[in-house]
This record gives sequence, structure tokens and C-alpha cells, in this order.
Amino acid sequence: MVALYEAHKKIYPRSVTGFFSRWRWACVFLTQLVFYGLPWLEWGQRQAVLFDLGARRFFIFNLVLYPQDFVYLTGLLVISALGLFLFTAVAGRLWCGYACPQTVYTEIFLWLEKLTEGDRSARMRRDAAPWTADKLLRKTAKQGLWMGVALWTGFTFVGYFTPIHTLSSEVLAWTLGPWEIFWVLFYGFATYGNAGFLREQVCKYMCPYARFQSAMFDKDTLVVTYDQERGEPRGARSKKADPAALNLGACVDCSLCVQVCPTGIDIRKGLQYECIGCGACADVCDTVMDKMGYARGLVKYSTQNAVSQHWTPAQTLRHVLRPRVLVYAGILGAVVLAMLVSLYLRPAFKVDVERDRGALARIASGGRIENVFRLQVMNATETSQRFQIAVEGLPGLAVASEPAIDIDATQSRWVAVRVQLPYEGAAAGSHPIHFTVTAEQGGARVTEKSVFIVPR
Ligand code: SF4
Ligand code: SF4
Repeated sequence: MVALYEAHKKIYPRSVTGFFSRWRWACVFLTQLVFYGLPWLEWGQRQAVLFDLGARRFFIFNLVLYPQDFVYLTGLLVISALGLFLFTAVAGRLWCGYACPQTVYTEIFLWLEKLTEGDRSARMRRDAAPWTADKLLRKTAKQGLWMGVALWTGFTFVGYFTPIHTLSSEVLAWTLGPWEIFWVLFYGFATYGNAGFLREQVCKYMCPYARFQSAMFDKDTLVVTYDQERGEPRGARSKKADPAALNLGACVDCSLCVQVCPTGIDIRKGLQYECIGCGACADVCDTVMDKMGYARGLVKYSTQNAVSQHWTPAQTLRHVLRPRVLVYAGILGAVVLAMLVSLYLRPAFKVDVERDRGALARIASGGRIENVFRLQVMNATETSQRFQIAVEGLPGLAVASEPAIDIDATQSRWVAVRVQLPYEGAAAGSHPIHFTVTAEQGGARVTEKSVFIVPR
């Protein structure tokens, strides 16, 4: 019988401390401080960041975005993609190893696992042993903590879409709506399943980024590398032994680099697509090198060229900042700048004009030719505003309906606008005109084009 799929082997990553591990934890704290903290931040009379899908308004500090501002979301996606290209070209899977939610939550869940069940060897022993009261208690405690974090994560996620204070009151009063319950449980379950059970399988089999990363790597990309020349031939030896006399390299074959690896690979076999570039193996190998009295850096962030040509760190860095990286950085900087300028210059209100489809044109009292338009004015500020509507484009053209409208803060309104032209003011046919809407407060104005129809 030939099995087409390898059975999944559970990975028990050993905990590790060191320079890169500290950076990873700093990223965990920073990202989670933002994720869990942001919905609780107040901004004036409302939540600072709230994506109110029902009202179709996105509040981000003092910005109020409408569905019509979709272009900014596109800009954000372009910035994210360029950022990913840049960081991958510089240092491989930096995102995966330090800031990806899968890594961050796996790190938190592993920490809770260590807290309740101990480190790698204790966990392996316990899993292989029969069930006892102690095992049951520890596993129950772990599951309880995991579920608590997962549910809190789901609750926080929904708190970005429903005001979190309202959501908390609803949770306490058991009055959550069906959709809120669904999303809290769905997001919580995804966190629990991905960080508690699937772990490295998400990175290895589900994440598309792992698949196309190699297209963005080159020989000057910083990746976690094992220095084969220095490490081989590997072999165990006593601390006092002279490796040269034993014809051994610096690798003591302790396998700690494999034990700490969250994806269970052996970095000594070279760069593999499963490597998320977390640097755990570099940290643990440095502690082994320290114990043996050897120089650090047998496993380190380096480039293929630097290893083969024995470059110094300064030479490596110079090659890392190559034209491709500078071009990515330049484009990224330009897009970020363009987005900031466009947000800064964004008008405080928006206008859409539609012709009334019911009547093309008619003769109004006094023999004037009348067209009816529908104007949607969206007030993107957080104070109510009064707007003046004017129209231009033909001699004698004027707004015949109420030329001023009041719109409450962050609201939008459709208004019917009657526009009249003196009889014989223009030849029969359609004529381009434009509406100008001016905010009384501040004087900002928006102009929109339309056409005025003169019947035969
Ligand atoms: S941790 Fe370092 S010394 Fe130990 S096996 Fe890995 S590369 Fe060799
Ligand atoms: S090989 Fe090293 S850097 Fe790559 S995932 Fe494993 S521990 Fe992290």
C-alpha cells in the first residue's frame, strides 16, 4: 500500500529566548496592544475606529469614510502589497516570522501551553502517558485559557463593527444579536483552531504567501542561514575538545535548532519553503555556541552571496540595499505620500448628481423649461452643515427649488433640484451644465457635471 499523504506529526516546539525571540515578543505586544486596545479608544463622542457597516460609514479617528471612498482601501492594499515586496526583498519572510496573526496567536497559545503543560519534553512525555487526574486538569486548564483568549479575540473583532461599549452591555445582558453571536464565535473559533491546532500547517499548506515568496527572493535577500562551511562535518564532542583535531566543524549536532523550530524543519538542510524566518534556530544555536565557547552566528540572518563570498556584515548590508530594494522603497514612499496628500485634500463633503428619470424636460409656469435632478450630498464632517446649491452652463439657468439644504453630521441626503431655463434660452438638444455645492461653513465647494435637456 502506498500512502499519497504523509500522516501529520505533531510538533512540540521548545521554548527559546534570545535576541530574535525578544523582537518577536515585542511584535506580539505591539500588535495585540493595538488590536485589543483600539476599539476601546474614544474620539470625541464616539469610538475612534469603527467600521459601521449598517450606516455605511467608516470612522477612523477624525476621518469619516463613505463607500464612495473605496479608492483609499485600494490605496491601502497597494501600500500593503508594496510593503510586502520591500520587506521580502530585504529580509525574506519577516512578516511571517514576526507580525503575521498566525505567528502572533501561535506564540500566545504556545506560551499558555507552556504555562499549563510545561516545555517540550514535559508535553511530549505527558501526551505519551496514560490519562491521569493531573493530565486532565492541565489539559482542561489549557483549553479553558485558549478558549478565553479566542473568545476575547472574537469579541474584539466584532467590536470594530459594533460599538464595543454597546457590545459589552449586550454580552452582560445576554442580548447579543444573532449576527454578533455568529461572528464572535466564528472569529474565536478560527483563532482557536488556527493557533491551537493547525499552527504550522496553515503556513505550510494554506497560506498562499509561502508559495510565491521564492519569486521575491534573490541571492542578496537576508534569510536564516546555516553556515555549512563552518558547521560541517557536524558531530558531538566535549566542550574541552578541539574540533580541528577531531576533524569536526562548529555544529555539535545537538538538534536544538530543530526542536525550537515551529514548523519542525532542519535549517541545516538549507533554505526550505516551510521556514517562516522566525530566527528561533539562530537564537538557540547562539546559546549553544556560547556554551561551547565558539563564535556566535553558525545559524544567522545572512544572504546567499554573503555566505559564499565571506562578506562582513557591513558588506552584506551594502548589498542588501540594492537597486531593486531602493526602487520598491521609492515607489512605496511615493504611494504613501500621495495617499496622505489626497486624504488631507479630501473635501469635507461629497456630491452625486442624477437626472430624474421620470421626466426629461417640461414647460413650467411662466413658460420656462424645467429639468429635475436628484442630488445626493454627503456630509463627511462630524458637525451639521448647510449647503448652497448653484447651477451654471447656460445663460439664465437657475435653481428654482430651495437652493440651501441642511445635513446632519456624517449623514447624506437625496434632494430633488428643479433647474429652469428661460424659453428659447438654448437650442433644442442636450447641453452640458454643472452644479456647484458650497458649504456655508468654511466655504469648501464641490462641482459636478450633468446635462440639461431642451425639448424640440
Ligand atoms: S543548534 Fe546549532 S549546534 Fe545545535 S544542531 Fe543546530 S546548528 Fe548544530
Ligand atoms: S528554520 Fe529557523 S527560522 Fe526557519 S522557521 Fe524554523 S526556527 Fe524559524
